[in-house]
Amino acid sequence: MSAMLNTPERRRYNNAHSRIKRAMEEATAASEKEALRQVGRDLSAHHPDDEEDPDCDRCGTPWPCSAAERAMRKVRA
Ligand SMILES: [Zn+2]
Repeated sequence: MSAMLNTPERRRYNNAHSRIKRAMEEATAASEKEALRQVGRDLSAHHPDDEEDPDCDRCGTPWPCSAAERAMRKVRA
């Protein structure tokens, strides 16, 4: 909402969400779609809270937590 929350990590997170959506539309194999769906679920579950120095909503650890980081890397691959 505020500009201070528009950090590179949050942009990376939002971009990962967009790319997953696009990749799912383009995926033809059911197994590929399911794998992408799982990454999307992980990404959504490990969401940053609204603090300037965010923690993960799921883990309670500084965000991006290892699960969010892993999910974002999978999207890029
Ligand atoms: Zn987490």
